[in-house]
Amino acid sequence: LAQLFRPLDLLGMVYRTIRQGVIDMGAMFDLIDTPAEIRDAADAQPLVVGEGHLRFEGVRFGYDPEREILRGIDLDVPAGSTLAIVGPSGAGKSTIARLLYRFYDLTGGRITIDGQDISAVQQASLRAQIGIVPQDTVLFNDTVGYNIAYGREGASEAEVAEAARGAAIAGFIERQPNGYDTRVGERGLKLSGGEKQRVAIARTLLKNPPVLILDEATSALDSRTEAEIMDTLEAIERGRTTLVIAHRLSTIVHADRIVVLDAGRIAESGKHAELLARGGLYAEMWSRQAAEREQALAAE
Ligand code: ATP
Repeated sequence: LAQLFRPLDLLGMVYRTIRQGVIDMGAMFDLIDTPAEIRDAADAQPLVVGEGHLRFEGVRFGYDPEREILRGIDLDVPAGSTLAIVGPSGAGKSTIARLLYRFYDLTGGRITIDGQDISAVQQASLRAQIGIVPQDTVLFNDTVGYNIAYGREGASEAEVAEAARGAAIAGFIERQPNGYDTRVGERGLKLSGGEKQRVAIARTLLKNPPVLILDEATSALDSRTEAEIMDTLEAIERGRTTLVIAHRLSTIVHADRIVVLDAGRIAESGKHAELLARGGLYAEMWSRQAAEREQALAAE
């Protein structure tokens, strides 16, 4: 009998993972633009993540065959390290994240996690191992506790509270008269962008994925909120292999490696200080943003 139920259990797991995947993706990617369906290979095996070593090898991709967006991308992200991707608007930064989630298949090269080609493993198992903190978090019209617990089915109240502490949102929640039972969303408590992002971080801490994609908000935050969010993001990155899609360079100064993408190619890569010393594209972006930051600070 146990054998009979096992496939059903598996189906349930796959369904939950897909549902979760769609919610994560819905927040991050444009769902109106539904991509061609990606299917598992007939012999696809589950992805088995050990350390979480991520590699892109000669990755090429275009949404349309006539227009190549990524023109041979090589990335090596050692387990537990943080790689930041920066570059002008339209350079292909978010496309890299979409390909890691296997929202599309490549036209050339491969992406591997711990040596396994992501196009050869079961998609549900891939997505179960990747956490996404999107730019704009979409919350369910439910309680704040439910919104966090969604990260992992069966999480206890104590685990939800611990995740909230890790995301620096526990104090705020506990000050509400109904605590974790406070309703949020359209008909409930309105949360600021920063608070919503922290709920997403708590949810991701609960999911505890070995691989993480952080899509940094483009909109400018005041410097205090930015400092607070950076602290919580650093906490969530610890011990995970992380890809950060960064718009503000001030938030990725401490990344283990920074890659500057320009028109679908890697123009420069290195640590912050190395890239500044190089005096290239990164140094140019840095001085431009530093001037903007000073103006914003003067206006605050
Ligand atoms: P930004 O900093 O503005 O978010 P980005 O570097 O993340 O930009 P991408 O979103 O990866 O850029 O887009 C790279 C290119 O691919 C752009 O020219 C964009 O217009 C194009 N593109 C993105 N999504 C699609 C799509 N679904 N269909 C066709 N073209 C797309």
